[in-house]
Amino acid sequence: MAKVFFCRDLEVSCKWGCSGETAEDVLRQVMAHALEKHGCKKMTEMMLERIKAKIREQEPTD
Ligand SMILES: [Zn+2]
Repeated sequence: MAKVFFCRDLEVSCKWGCSGETAEDVLRQVMAHALEKHGCKKMTEMMLERIKAKIREQEPTD
């Protein structure tokens, strides 16, 4: 089952989301996105925890 993450889950007005095979894969994409689009110079431990808490299983789409 794929893992997914959406910026809006962190109460950010951003429509971006991503999916990956593992939480680590998703986390890598989220970090790249945060650096590029949200001007996050570096990821704090607290931010990482918040993001990890919002990574979830992709819902079946049928
Ligand atoms: Zn975003």
